[in-house]
Amino acid sequence: MLEVNQAMSRLFGYAEGDLVGRSVLDLVAPESLPFVQSLFAKGVEGPFEALALDAAGEVFPVEVHSRTIPYSDGLDAGVSSIRDLRERRAMEERLARQALYDNVTGLPNRVLLVDRVRHALSSARVGEDSPIAIILLDLDRFKVVNESLGHSAGDALLLAVGQRLQACLRPGDTVARFGGDEFAILLDEVGGPDGANVVAERIEGELAAPVSIGGHEVFVSARMGIVVGQPGRAEPDDLLRDAEIALYRAKAGSMVRRALFEPSMSSVAAERLDLESDLRRAIDRAELRVFYQPLVDLATDRIAGVEALVRWQHPTRGLIAPMSFIPLAEETGLILPIGRWVLETACRQAHEWQLAFPSDPPLTISVNLSARQFAQADLVAQVAAILAETDLPPSSLELEITESVVMDESEPGIRALRALRELGCRLALDDFGTGYSSLSYLKSLPLDTIKIDRSFVAGLAGDDANLPIVQAVIGLAHGLGIDVTAEGIETADQLGWLRDLVCDRGQGYYYARPLPAPELARLLGPDARPIGRPATTRVAFTTRAGRRRDRIAG
Ligand code: C2E
Ligand code: MG
Ligand code: MG
Repeated sequence: MLEVNQAMSRLFGYAEGDLVGRSVLDLVAPESLPFVQSLFAKGVEGPFEALALDAAGEVFPVEVHSRTIPYSDGLDAGVSSIRDLRERRAMEERLARQALYDNVTGLPNRVLLVDRVRHALSSARVGEDSPIAIILLDLDRFKVVNESLGHSAGDALLLAVGQRLQACLRPGDTVARFGGDEFAILLDEVGGPDGANVVAERIEGELAAPVSIGGHEVFVSARMGIVVGQPGRAEPDDLLRDAEIALYRAKAGSMVRRALFEPSMSSVAAERLDLESDLRRAIDRAELRVFYQPLVDLATDRIAGVEALVRWQHPTRGLIAPMSFIPLAEETGLILPIGRWVLETACRQAHEWQLAFPSDPPLTISVNLSARQFAQADLVAQVAAILAETDLPPSSLELEITESVVMDESEPGIRALRALRELGCRLALDDFGTGYSSLSYLKSLPLDTIKIDRSFVAGLAGDDANLPIVQAVIGLAHGLGIDVTAEGIETADQLGWLRDLVCDRGQGYYYARPLPAPELARLLGPDARPIGRPATTRVAFTTRAGRRRDRIAG
């Protein structure tokens, strides 16, 4: 070296001037020596990369640019500039890691897992006849942890779960995090479905012990979808999709916590996917309809209110009942826009009817609210806005909720109920008798109405056993100042019993099925016949308990 600048000396850790007179090759790490020597021999000017050696003996990557220039007396010299690549390398490594690893758990991410699955399925391994398995795992109630203990607690839980999963697998297996609370596990050479199930069981055991996070004991459980694939015969994307389908199945059942993929699951899943994408467009394409079913005052046979019941006029499947799409809407969150649309449509319609057919008290409208709608922080504001927009008096709106809504998250749930009540709305407990039916909490809920589920009403016809139950519910409700509506009245006989039990209102096919708005309007008009047939004959009889009663013959 003839001349060396300050930066060069500093980079290699020498004092200024110390390098002059030494060989350039002193700065090359032994690993790179043969390569650099051959380049110099060929007169290559670069740029090239090599490993350098500093004064302290540290090896580091550099980029070299060289140029040959005439020096003196016909001698040539080389001018080289050298760039330290350490920072760039570290950055590249970080980027590579980020692209392939999840930064919360440090586990491989989806990209890396798919790559490993592809490798495991590669034809190089055909003939080894050892299937692989993928387990997709979804944590239960992770959202609750995240929301109640905070996101850093959520992260800590994910980290802990990732570590436990790794602890119960073999070194050749891969645990990956797929984002959210979903993990994927690639089992190499698992032997078949039985082997995969054994591992899944081990995972369940491993997750069973509580995780301690920030002073809280958190219990984790998971649902698993399992798929088995044969090298050379399956594609990674197909396998992952099948695992997803199996996981969906495992999440759908309350008892089953894991499911092994079977081809028959595919068509069900495909159908559901189609329906889901159709449902996403249903509002915009104006395919949803609201039907109205009368709620009849049993004392006067007058229509006191109507219940709004949504229908889906599907372009190819025809009219779809709510039970066939409300659960799907709940699961996908589509219930929020759908529910809002129903509420608005129903309130607007009710106000129109109140103007066209005035009565005292005015016609009420009942609208069903699902659990998910109820969990919205701005539900009360939404209801208030819709009432203002449609000009409907709050007291004309009755919101129907089911027991699960108030049992699940009791405190915020009850607070929302109170707020809706303060707004002036009426509240009804729907399908009473099918859920927890704890009579004790009735007094703590701000309810106006209990709707007795139609399974009790159906039993009223011939089976005396339902009678004391319905009677007790009505008595209790009245004692608490709550009205009772009977659902699903289909016969005059049932109606007779309910009148005897002083039930306040009734709803059912006996009066009318849920009807499109124009047809319902005909039941409201001044020329409308009184709804239902008036009670005429009363028949005396003796109950099983030996009491004398009479009822109306249909
Ligand atoms: P629900 O709120 O208990 O509504 C009463 C259901 O009973 C309606 O079924 C109605 O058609 C049916 N029904 C009425 N009278 C009789 C009868 O005499 N016999 C029999 N067998 N059935 C009768 P639909 O319309 O199929 O609705 C089913 C459920 O779907 C509703 O039960 C409600 O839980 C839900 N749903 C309907 N519309 C909406 C909505 O807009 N939002 C939400 N979240 N849920 C809705
Ligand atoms: Mg209802
Ligand atoms: Mg009901």
